[in-house]
Amino acid sequence: MADASSTPIIVWFRQDLRLADNPALAEAARTGRPVLPVYVLDDDTPGTWRMGGAARWWLHHSLAALGRDLAALGCALVLRRGDPRAVLPALIREAGADTVFWNRRYEPFAIARDEAVKASLKAVGFTVRSFNAALLHEPWTVTTRAGGPCRVHSAFWRACLAKGDPPPPLPAPRKLLGAALPGDTLDAWRLLPDAPDWAGGLRAAWTPGEAGARQRLTDFLDGALEGYAARRDQPGLEATSRLSPHLRFGEVGPRQVWHAVLTASGVRGGRGGAAKFLAELGRREFSYHLLYHHRGLPAVPLRPEFADFPWREDPEALRAWQRGATGYPLVDAGMRELWSTGWMHNRVRMIAASFLVKHLLIPWQTGEAWFWDTLVDADLASNAANWQWIAGCGADAAPYFRIFNPVLQGMKFDPEGDYVRRWVPELRGLPARHVHRPWEAPEGELRAAGVVLGRTYPTPVVDHAAARGRALAAFARVKKGCAADAV
Ligand code: FAD
Repeated sequence: MADASSTPIIVWFRQDLRLADNPALAEAARTGRPVLPVYVLDDDTPGTWRMGGAARWWLHHSLAALGRDLAALGCALVLRRGDPRAVLPALIREAGADTVFWNRRYEPFAIARDEAVKASLKAVGFTVRSFNAALLHEPWTVTTRAGGPCRVHSAFWRACLAKGDPPPPLPAPRKLLGAALPGDTLDAWRLLPDAPDWAGGLRAAWTPGEAGARQRLTDFLDGALEGYAARRDQPGLEATSRLSPHLRFGEVGPRQVWHAVLTASGVRGGRGGAAKFLAELGRREFSYHLLYHHRGLPAVPLRPEFADFPWREDPEALRAWQRGATGYPLVDAGMRELWSTGWMHNRVRMIAASFLVKHLLIPWQTGEAWFWDTLVDADLASNAANWQWIAGCGADAAPYFRIFNPVLQGMKFDPEGDYVRRWVPELRGLPARHVHRPWEAPEGELRAAGVVLGRTYPTPVVDHAAARGRALAAFARVKKGCAADAV
């Protein structure tokens, strides 16, 4: 019979691709037993949300970094492909293991899968333990005063703050006793685009992996944290953390971010920039809270009265939106930033998303799908919760009659037009007063800037006032329900 101390423990990595503050890995290391770190790529199991193109690019590099970091501790990351319900039992047999640890996921398909894996392994006597690595607080532990799930972010966040600081982050293991098994090579998974290679902008913008996440956090704390509250809405500035893809892949965890912010700001609970930043981190938590309690969140409107909303089909307008060719410079700049870097500034995400659902009346699920494919931070909870919020059918959504005017938003948040000029270079020569509304520029100004509307830059795909009127008429259908629930 095998000596229990030499029986390997499988650590199943998922969206926790880091060594520090990784409770499943830390617990496995603590036992002193050999550790077999595994990542399973599951593309084909029905019900699984297959990762989009930009996220697959990120995953490749993140797994490469994790593999290097684990190798430095004496452990090889094993890559396998398929349904974990079949892959994990097979791995256990091959490795002669009797224990599996993982950090929890909250997507409905992942919960169902994990429950099935746990039940089948426990049924044959194996030990399975799961931990929290992804959230400040487990979604079921944050409640309203009446004890139910929260529907409003502000109340949710107050309840989170009342719980006090989350536990301090765990250190990375200093060494691991490795167990070895053969696996796939990363290249064989073909996660990187090659025909064509569209990832040049992603490579220039990001350094996936735990070290890249650490650097991003340090840079933010040293630079932009203090002015975060005042500057975070201006897309032309580097005023936000850009931690979202690192958080998405778990290269850094929210507890690490929380405690690093407290240390950097020197204030318990945070003040000013720090408090605002932590509250934004709280939006991520709230999205998971919503997804946990409303499993249909990625596809079904939370407000049932939206089920019959008169959405339009307009493939041409959708294409213009996707390509950053709507004729509204701020929307186009955002969509091109997204295409080029896999990321878009939050303020511009709101405006671009609102434009799709309100100006074009195209279903929010269509926009959600495009973001899912193109964002490096594509996250089932945050993407769905934000699209529902913008469409007016979310938990604490803005009232339907609040329709962003992309011109006024541009003038307010990109007053000099720096952001638009960066991503829509054909408008670079226009002065600030017309860069967000080139159709109102005098002929001489357009000529001097080399802009020919309809040729070098599109004319608006819809007229704002007309589109607003159409949206209000459509939204009036669900007005009664919205007004009744508005918070
Ligand atoms: P910071 O301002 O530095 O905020 C710090 C962290 O807080 C972020 O990294 C993120 O984890 C979290 N956060 C901030 N704002 C939000 C928010 N509104 N909702 C949830 N979490 C938030 N974020 C994603 O991570 N994945 C998505 O798929 C996603 N889809 C979105 C779709 C739409 C239509 C909209 C309007 C927003 C979406 N967001 C999504 C939220 C937000 O735009 C990004 O989290 C943010 O822009 C990331 O940039 P940052 O890291 O610099 O944010």
